[in-house]
Amino acid sequence: MSLAASIREQVRRRAQYPCEFCGTTEIDAGGMLTLDHFQPRAKEGSDTLENLSYACITCNQCKQDYWPRTKTAPILWNPRQESASQHFVEQEDGQLTALTPQADSFSPLHQNC
Ligand SMILES: [Zn+2]
Repeated sequence: MSLAASIREQVRRRAQYPCEFCGTTEIDAGGMLTLDHFQPRAKEGSDTLENLSYACITCNQCKQDYWPRTKTAPILWNPRQESASQHFVEQEDGQLTALTPQADSFSPLHQNC
């Protein structure tokens, strides 16, 4: 079941149009991005605005249906609750280096996909 166009637009506007995970713009992607369920539907995630992120297809596919189920499983970085600078540092060559386990488990550079 797809989400209503109005929900998609609310998430898109809240994100201010780029991917909330990696910053890919709609221009770079060649069109609108996707909606991602931060906690996947398959893992009891809801369709509420709080659980939806605006994500490029690469980030959405990288994240897939991952959701930590054990205390030792890597937790996910939520871009609406914590800034990227808390989890990544940009090197002089433009590459991002992960600073936290959350960044290692979900890199905006799509290194883990
Ligand atoms: Zn992205």
